Amino acid sequence: MKLLKHLANLGYGSRKDVQWLFREGRISNAAGEVLYADDPLDHDAVRVDGEPLDPPPGMLLMLHKPVDYTCSTKDRGRVVYDLLPPRYRLRSPALSTVGRLDRDTSGLLLLTDDGQLLHRIIAPKSKLPKVYLATLADDLRGDEGAVFASGTLMLEGEKTPLLPARLEVLGPRSARLTLHEGRYHQVRRMFAAVGNHVAALHRERVGGLALDDLPAGEWRMLGEGDREQLF
Ligand code: URA
Repeated sequence: MKLLKHLANLGYGSRKDVQWLFREGRISNAAGEVLYADDPLDHDAVRVDGEPLDPPPGMLLMLHKPVDYTCSTKDRGRVVYDLLPPRYRLRSPALSTVGRLDRDTSGLLLLTDDGQLLHRIIAPKSKLPKVYLATLADDLRGDEGAVFASGTLMLEGEKTPLLPARLEVLGPRSARLTLHEGRYHQVRRMFAAVGNHVAALHRERVGGLALDDLPAGEWRMLGEGDREQLF
């Protein structure tokens, strides 16, 4: 691939915009020597306005999604992409959320531009644990753990029962729930099925990855070691 196309794919602008960056001499190597559009591509050596390039395709990042942000690219309100560098939204291949969290759910959200990785994570056979903290509107009855663990709970409109899920009661109205699948509004629908209502929902963990002390609204790039936590 030519340098020009690579920069356009990384979101530095249309091919025309990037052409201008070359003409203006704003693209150089690490030694400050000006590069040209058809120079060979050496990602790590290229600088735009003296700055190293954004990561090449194949990136994976973790975002601490706050409530009131949607995972859609089209929503007219606040979207998770608003929390990332603006160029990330213009990349090709596109940076996509790995599954979704509802607008009212906070917590760990993964984003990647690696389609294969995305499918490996969300494929039903991955069975990757996802851990949620739920705050409930009403007191727990006491039988929810058994119902969720049974592997027989059917949600309305679904053709197959839910996989067994683990409930850890933390208080009269709070619990930690571990799922091994990701159906639409699953946690909220599970608690509705046992006569309760989720007042607040937060995802703490996906596979071996946790938010740790990443503040709400912040993100971090994940490396090889982090990826291993997903399989
Ligand atoms: N389950 C839900 O109900 N909502 C989410 O955002 C994630 C899991």
